[in-house]
Amino acid sequence: MTEPTIYELSSPGRTGVTFPDPDVPSVKFPENLLRKDLPLPELAEVDVVRHYVNLSKYNYSVDGGFYPLGSCTMKYNPKINENTARLPGFAFTHPLQPIETVQGNLALMYTLQEWLKEITGFAALTLQPAAGAHGELTGVLIMRAYHKDRGDVKRVKMLIPDSAHGTNPASSAMSSLEVVQVPSDARGNVDLAALKAACDDTTVGLMLTNPNTLGLFDEHLEQVIKIVHDCGGLVYGDGANLNALLGVLRPGDVGIDVMHLNLHKTFSTPHGGGGPGSGPVGVTEKLADFLPGPLVGIVEESADDEPPLFGFVTPKKTIGRLKAFHGHFGMLVRAYTYIAMHGPDGLRKVAEYAVLNANYIKARLKGIYTVPFDRICMHEFVAEGQWADAPGIRALDVAKRLMDYNFHPPTNYFPLIVHEALMIEPTETENKGTLDAFTDALIKIAAEAKATPDLLHEAPHKTPFGRMDDVKAARELVLCCWLPEDYGKN
Ligand SMILES: *Cc1c(COP(=O)(O)O)cnc(C)c1O
Repeated sequence: MTEPTIYELSSPGRTGVTFPDPDVPSVKFPENLLRKDLPLPELAEVDVVRHYVNLSKYNYSVDGGFYPLGSCTMKYNPKINENTARLPGFAFTHPLQPIETVQGNLALMYTLQEWLKEITGFAALTLQPAAGAHGELTGVLIMRAYHKDRGDVKRVKMLIPDSAHGTNPASSAMSSLEVVQVPSDARGNVDLAALKAACDDTTVGLMLTNPNTLGLFDEHLEQVIKIVHDCGGLVYGDGANLNALLGVLRPGDVGIDVMHLNLHKTFSTPHGGGGPGSGPVGVTEKLADFLPGPLVGIVEESADDEPPLFGFVTPKKTIGRLKAFHGHFGMLVRAYTYIAMHGPDGLRKVAEYAVLNANYIKARLKGIYTVPFDRICMHEFVAEGQWADAPGIRALDVAKRLMDYNFHPPTNYFPLIVHEALMIEPTETENKGTLDAFTDALIKIAAEAKATPDLLHEAPHKTPFGRMDDVKAARELVLCCWLPEDYGKN
């Protein structure tokens, strides 16, 4: 650690706060309630501010540099989203306020629901789920409820391609379903013969990530959907990769029955660091009655040009509530702003540039990095971080070395079907200069891997901390290394 801890900076008598004179008589605290061993630091405001600002500089962020973390769509978060989310009428409302006093907020949620329905081609949509995986759970519970409602209780299996995101089998298992893995074919599509063999009258449905985690659009999408429908199953679309399809393809139009979106990916609301996400779920007409409630709806039409009265409606056969109140409202304001700022043509450009940027990097790396399943990719692609003539170099070494070039590493060791995977997703918000600088760094690293492999093995060299033992860090997490040795002993 190069930064002194706040306890090392402490000096007796320094203070960062000025309390006003009390307007009540002061009393002495009972001695037995006071802890003398509590090592509270004493610092001035300037010491505290500098300490935390300096610590924050250790973090890599999307505001600080390029973040090609595959599957995560780490696009730039426009600052206007923050301005609107902070408007007092949005930021300071309480979810239990009478609905007459929050009509603007409800109008925003209603409009966002309508926009997302139009963008995806679904008949109904909930804004409740807290993130993508939570949306999956919502969707899978809806699929289960649909079959149960028809008395079709034999259906207990969820088919999941081996190119799916890991949350898909997890959501199915959490919904007490049996997960059946479907292999990919040589071009990275769902293997149709295997799908046919697996799909029967015990199948709840298929969870399809499209484009899949290889960044590839399934070339037999319509056949895949038909096979599942023909055996009575439903198709769940993992919409986390919608960034590749915005304004080009509407999943609801091609037969997908239910899908989540990640507002914190496609629609530029911030994510990472465990902060709030948002995973709205859209469904076709026949599943609309099962959505979680309440949804924002029009409860009273108005005459003339007056806005209607918005309120809450609960779908008839609802699976129930999945989230306190109405979802992460601040994320909804940000996504609304993003869509309003782009308009339909702008959203289509998002997808076009996201796909172009990924293909540009992939083309520049041709012959230098192996890309299995090499065909035109969508918004991301997966390369191998290994070479026959650089024994001992692994994807992890390439990822760590990229940090020395001041880039966030791509996702690595995922998807599992590619060995030493490096999953690169540039997003549409990067300019050609950044894409070139990143690709140049990858090309240099490929040369270093062969000429000076130890440079990679020992990377990163330029970060405040060197190579971590990830396993030890996770198993023996030390969160309070600042405590004095004798803490708690007297
Ligand atoms: C990110 C992602 C998810 C999960 O979304 P969270 O918001 O992280 O829960 C699911 N599927 C795919 C393909 C993803 O990329």
